[in-house]
Amino acid sequence: MIDQPLILVINCGSSSLKFALIEPSQGYCELDGIAENLASPQAIIRWSHHQQEHQKAIADGAHSEAGQGIIELLEKVQLRSRVVAIGHRVVHGGKRFSESVLIDEAVTAAVEACSSLAPLHNPANLVGIEVTTQYFPGLPQVAVFDTAFHQSMTEQAFLYALPLSLYRDHGVRRYGFHGTSFRYVSAQATRQLSLKADDHGLVIAHLGNGASACAVHNGKSVDTTMGLTPLEGLVMGTRSGNIDPGLLLFLHQRCHYSIEEIDSLLNKRSGLLGLSELSNDMRTLEDAADKGNTQADLAIRVFCYQLAKQLAGLMTAIPRCDGLIFTGGIGENSRRVRHETVQHLGSLGWAIDPDANLSNGESNQGKIHQSDSPIIAVIATDEELMIAKDVVTLTNSQQR
Ligand code: ADP
Repeated sequence: MIDQPLILVINCGSSSLKFALIEPSQGYCELDGIAENLASPQAIIRWSHHQQEHQKAIADGAHSEAGQGIIELLEKVQLRSRVVAIGHRVVHGGKRFSESVLIDEAVTAAVEACSSLAPLHNPANLVGIEVTTQYFPGLPQVAVFDTAFHQSMTEQAFLYALPLSLYRDHGVRRYGFHGTSFRYVSAQATRQLSLKADDHGLVIAHLGNGASACAVHNGKSVDTTMGLTPLEGLVMGTRSGNIDPGLLLFLHQRCHYSIEEIDSLLNKRSGLLGLSELSNDMRTLEDAADKGNTQADLAIRVFCYQLAKQLAGLMTAIPRCDGLIFTGGIGENSRRVRHETVQHLGSLGWAIDPDANLSNGESNQGKIHQSDSPIIAVIATDEELMIAKDVVTLTNSQQR
């Protein structure tokens, strides 16, 4: 068998660098891993290859040392020469990017310009681009934006009811995130559920550590729960999701919280973690709730109720909802979350089949609904594959 070309997919954070080598035509992952705790004594690269887990300490190594370590690793397993192009997950593309693009100097400058909208993420994504440019000189690189899929939202969906000057002068609006996942899952759902490409509506719930949901009409995002930042919308692992904006004033004026404390409270100490005072991890909470931990149980109930309420809201964004899709670590695996969420939607005609739900939909092409309910399905997301496919499309069009 001829060795197929591989795409290196990079997702660079402020202290971590996730990487995956994807074979895009068959859609399999040859090797994947993460360099984490970067620039600290605990810096380490972990990777998985042929179902075997490996790790290598790179004490005090920063992103550049991680890049060096990844190159050495790829040489050792004889995969480096098969890498033909690189795809980067970039969090914020602002108004400028409505689709993936080949990276050049103008693109990196524009990503930098969007940093004010994602001060933690975009600079880290740029570091990732720098590192791969250093270690893979000459290879084409593509930026794939979390926000791009939602650029099809209209003003009525993306504007906040604030003085319009904030939008005009500072770009204050809803952007939405998880776009690469929604794009992948919506295409999969259309195929798998035999929907008409030009006449269908879906609501997709991407439930991982971060969580958001999206209304899709004929393959295009029309509304989503995340906003200017990923803090808006659903209850998440450590993020609060929707709150009364008046709470910010209350915390500042009455509780004397600083801006930094409010930021940390809402982003890092709220959500499932804040409510349960135990964990941000759904599996841990489900285990604890099963053993009688009432606070873990409460956190899951709030998660499901808020989710159902916002899913029902998104259904108003499309002329008809042909399918409710669950994806992400929680959406693909948590029977309880799907069951409880759909129960809240019973008055709208949604009903889950308990047996199909138990099998995570494996028994029937992902479908987990009762016969008298619209389609409810579990569809696994694959953001890395979506990024790799975009890389192939853009590099092929460049060669033409
Ligand atoms: P990320 O946003 O980091 O990509 P994932 O999509 O991997 O996150 O989702 C992680 C979440 O999925 C965690 O809360 C984890 O507990 C949850 N999860 C994974 N497997 C299960 C399971 N079998 N049951 C319940 N929750 C699960």
